[in-house]
Amino acid sequence: MEKLQNYYRSFETEMGYNRFDKNSFKANQTFLLYIHMLLTTEVAEVAEEFRSMFDLSEKYLSEGYTDIEAMEMAKESIREDLGKELADCLAYLLKLANHFEYDLETELYSKLEEIKATRKRY
Ligand SMILES: [Mg+2]
Repeated sequence: MEKLQNYYRSFETEMGYNRFDKNSFKANQTFLLYIHMLLTTEVAEVAEEFRSMFDLSEKYLSEGYTDIEAMEMAKESIREDLGKELADCLAYLLKLANHFEYDLETELYSKLEEIKATRKRY
């Protein structure tokens, strides 16, 4: 993940993204609100792909395919677009992690361990 975060940092530099005054509260606030808005938009686009998948599944069901066949065909038809939307989401998560200087891999392992520990208590 560190490699990915570094790659994303280089990509942003190459593309000329994130050119704002990092010492300005207002500029930081605007940046974070904007990135949050973009991330939530991408998450909604993932939901939109699921909606397409469900609609297509219904269509295939009405054409006589079994539910598993219909779902698999619909899943395949959104595969490319869903991958792009998931990548969009990850890009904004990497952007936020880099902004706050998190090692996202460490954060993820830590969170998963926390979930395991919580689960074992019940
Ligand atoms: Mg998108």
